[in-house]
Amino acid sequence: MPGPVLDPVITDNSLPPKADVVIIGGGIIGVSTALFLAERGIQVVLCEKGALGGEQSSRNWGWVRVMGRDRREIPLAMAALKIWDTLDARVGGETGFRRSGILYISENEQDIANRDAWLTHARQYGVDSRQIGADETQSRMSGATTRYKGALFTPSDGRAEPQKAVPALAAGARRAGAHIVTGCAVRGVERSAGRISAVITEKGRIETTTVVLAGGAWSRLFCKGLGIRLPQLKVRNTVLRTAAVDGGPEGAAATATYAYRKRLDGGYTIADGSANLHPIAPDSFTFFRDFQPARKAEGEAVQVGLSAQSWRELFEIAPVPLDRPGAFERHRILDPRPDSRSALRAFEEARKVFPALRQTAPLQIWGGLIDVTPDAVPVISHAENVPGLIIATGFSGHGFGIGPGAGHLVADLVTGARPIVDPANFRLSRFSDGTPIEIAPPV
Ligand SMILES: Cc1cc2nc3c(=O)[nH]c(=O)nc-3n(C[C@H](O)[C@H](O)[C@H](O)COP(=O)(O)OP(=O)(O)OC[C@H]3O[C@@H](n4cnc5c(N)ncnc54)[C@H](O)[C@@H]3O)c2cc1C
Repeated sequence: MPGPVLDPVITDNSLPPKADVVIIGGGIIGVSTALFLAERGIQVVLCEKGALGGEQSSRNWGWVRVMGRDRREIPLAMAALKIWDTLDARVGGETGFRRSGILYISENEQDIANRDAWLTHARQYGVDSRQIGADETQSRMSGATTRYKGALFTPSDGRAEPQKAVPALAAGARRAGAHIVTGCAVRGVERSAGRISAVITEKGRIETTTVVLAGGAWSRLFCKGLGIRLPQLKVRNTVLRTAAVDGGPEGAAATATYAYRKRLDGGYTIADGSANLHPIAPDSFTFFRDFQPARKAEGEAVQVGLSAQSWRELFEIAPVPLDRPGAFERHRILDPRPDSRSALRAFEEARKVFPALRQTAPLQIWGGLIDVTPDAVPVISHAENVPGLIIATGFSGHGFGIGPGAGHLVADLVTGARPIVDPANFRLSRFSDGTPIEIAPPV
């Protein structure tokens, strides 16, 4: 398998003919949803076209944070952290979750002002984030030889292992009764009397009235086939992993030039948060206006260019009949070519600050395609014009940490239970009902 190596996980070979709910996609959102539905006694089948966690959910940095989030996400992110606390025991496995704290390093007065502004509104939710000075920052970046101005610090934020979490949650979901099939692309849905009546997969048909679309970067293409307008684009970020290091810093931190997170195996996950590429594709034009405010706000943090993904999407324009294999079967796992230069540059920057990192070399570099919405807030929503469909996608580079909370919320929407948080901010219709696109200020 390309990309990082995930923990092994047992899946099911056959497809049941019927289910209460079919979930499309086996990333953190799909498996969390499967877990919460199965725990509630719902007959659920999850179909994954490639490998469980093979795309974004194993390729991410592993940060689990409330800090710096858009105001619309804070309550769900806080609920997710509480769920992470319970997950290892709940699934009888290791997700790697540790509340080891996160630092946003402040290098100038503007950083401090941005973080003050975020704290002013975030405090009302009861976050424990605070601004710390140079001494405390240095002590929390154990072994750092550079003295930074300060940091925004959240002690209750944490980290988890992207290569462990999805397999652990999937095993737990299966134990709770979920059926999980990999190598099983869902091509589309059948409808009867306007409502979903079945999903059509490459391995056969499953009768169902409820479908959860947790397809990550593929959700836009799937929605297009159903006549749903989901404004979603893709952005590549690159990650480097080191071997185990003695005496390095705990937790995670981001500076302007590098970000690190201590791994459970003793190594570090290192990246440059501002080295991102949007592969230009037909959707870049389709959604040009939707993403205009985001483009203005991002500045240099996202470059635009051609890549293999650009060409691939050119061939995805025409709809494919459900009795024929299409793009979901042609590309089992999105494995974009990494920007190794940016990852190695970030690693060098980190080594300048942490002599402990000079003992180690990079073990692996990989890329990941992030799915983004125009306001960088996910869609967790019933699809109004396709009764029976719930969409959970567009986590915009921060869906790993919030994932278990999102899975809980989706299970609430499916079962009609009291939602864990108010889902109004995540409704799909905000992109079509005249609501202005709200972009969170920089933190
Ligand atoms: C480099 C990088 C760094 C990141 N860092 C962080 C971080 O530190 N913290 C954080 O919170 N988030 C982070 N993120 C974002 C986070 O990884 C994602 O938001 C999250 O993993 C999205 O989960 P998902 O389940 O929606 O999508 P994915 O993990 O992409 O899963 C979607 C799955 O659906 C499957 N699928 C799609 N269509 C079909 C179909 N038709 N039939 C069957 N299967 C289908 C795909 O094969 C895929 O496996 C990062 C992402 C990247 C790439």
